[in-house]
Amino acid sequence: MARHFDAIIIGTGQAGPSLAARLVAAGMAVAIIERHKFGGTCVNTGCIPTKTLIASAYAAHLARRGAEYGLVANSDVRVDMKRVKARKDEIAGRSNSGVEKRLRELKNCTVIHGHARFQSSRTVVVNDEVLESDKIFINVGGRASVPALQGVHDVPFLTNSSMMEVDFLPQHLVIVGGSYVGLEFGQMYRRFGSEVTIVEMGPRLVGREDEDVSQAVREVLESEGIRIRLNAKCISLAKHDSRIAVGVKCDQGAPEVLGSHVLLAVGRVPNTSDLGLDRAGVATDQRGYIVVDDQLQTNVPGIWALGDCNGRGAFTHTSYNDYEIVADNLFNATGHRSVADRIQTYALFTDPPLGRCGMTDAEIRKSGRVALMAKHPMSQVARAVEKGETQGFLKIAVDAETKYILGAPRIVTENNEIVHILLDIMYARAPYTVVQRAMHIHPTVAEFLPTVLSKLKPFA
Ligand SMILES: Cc1cc2nc3c(=O)[nH]c(=O)nc-3n(C[C@H](O)[C@H](O)[C@H](O)COP(=O)(O)OP(=O)(O)OC[C@H]3O[C@@H](n4cnc5c(N)ncnc54)[C@H](O)[C@@H]3O)c2cc1C
Repeated sequence: MARHFDAIIIGTGQAGPSLAARLVAAGMAVAIIERHKFGGTCVNTGCIPTKTLIASAYAAHLARRGAEYGLVANSDVRVDMKRVKARKDEIAGRSNSGVEKRLRELKNCTVIHGHARFQSSRTVVVNDEVLESDKIFINVGGRASVPALQGVHDVPFLTNSSMMEVDFLPQHLVIVGGSYVGLEFGQMYRRFGSEVTIVEMGPRLVGREDEDVSQAVREVLESEGIRIRLNAKCISLAKHDSRIAVGVKCDQGAPEVLGSHVLLAVGRVPNTSDLGLDRAGVATDQRGYIVVDDQLQTNVPGIWALGDCNGRGAFTHTSYNDYEIVADNLFNATGHRSVADRIQTYALFTDPPLGRCGMTDAEIRKSGRVALMAKHPMSQVARAVEKGETQGFLKIAVDAETKYILGAPRIVTENNEIVHILLDIMYARAPYTVVQRAMHIHPTVAEFLPTVLSKLKPFA
């Protein structure tokens, strides 16, 4: 006999718990299933712990620069990794237990700890019990990809998950992968005091960004003593006495990097291979992502997929936005929300952070639009000079005809906050002249937006 629910949610990532609350508030009986830690990646091994660690690393960095600001330091700055980890555990742990507590306190919500598998398009098995519903929401997220590198199983390696247990200072951390996860850990551990080498297969860091962005990020990292090996086409791993040899076979420099620890940061894979999707008839693409339409419905009526597992976003905000789209389309008769309406936006939390909204230069060129662009170095922004954080630049591209903002990558102190000024203008479908005519607070980075916009020139 199957236990019937009005809705079943698999996974407690960034969409599932909020959806459970909304469904219950609408009078539905809900089952929510979690196989591991409540709150998923962001809470336990992603955003919250990494940004907490980054805060410790920033404090260490600033303390080392104390003399620049007129401080008199009595000794070298050293980092107690056990205390750094304890702070991270406390902050992430509070979120983790908060998610579980909120779910367990929801009336009419049954919380089940166990691994869920589809038995059919209407039934799910968990802990040998069959649950049934005509509405099933999949929010199973993803995990670190472990590529078939030569020797990968002959050496101990770290991923973003096992990095959470590190309470010591690696002597030399070699990071395979020069994108968001790798760069955040790289700068963080360098600031804690490790030697760090980043090995990237492609010709530049954060390869999806424009070249000037990649170059600026590289300059920031190299200025802190991080070694960067690009074009590492054939990466291999091997034991070398007590160390790990990362073979890079690059065109340039030594063919091997010897490190004490290796972190694999080479992308994510969706948690869909052990979900019984074939029994439900739910289609996935070649990489295992669940295929959804713009309302996040799968090919099987009554089954939705939200968050990283649908391949339509890989961020906490995209997963949460998925929840809002699904819930509004279910309950708000006037709203018809769609993934197609959202504007691409994200941040890389290096210091200074890269924040992006809208298109890259390459995407603008490909779109064939007539565009104008302005770029401004941070060394000419008063707030940045005052703070002693002058690396990076502000850049804005607009449509020459409509005056709408097309894209704005910026590597700027406080950038992860000020990028929202432009993002909100884009959502409002207002021309850039609105920002240009607004009066902003002095001294801020935001007050420079009108100055940058006054320099718009035809797109090169
Ligand atoms: C190191 C790192 C840093 C990051 N930093 C940021 C950041 O700063 N900003 C940002 O926006 N994003 C960041 N992300 C991405 C962000 O963490 C994810 O996009 C976000 O967690 C969305 O996840 P989700 O809702 O899809 O599911 P997840 O959070 O991955 O949760 C899925 C849940 O489903 C559970 N589950 C899986 N399969 C089953 C099953 N069969 N049965 C029951 N339960 C199951 C899992 O145990 C997990 O708890 C980061 C990611 C990493 C790895």
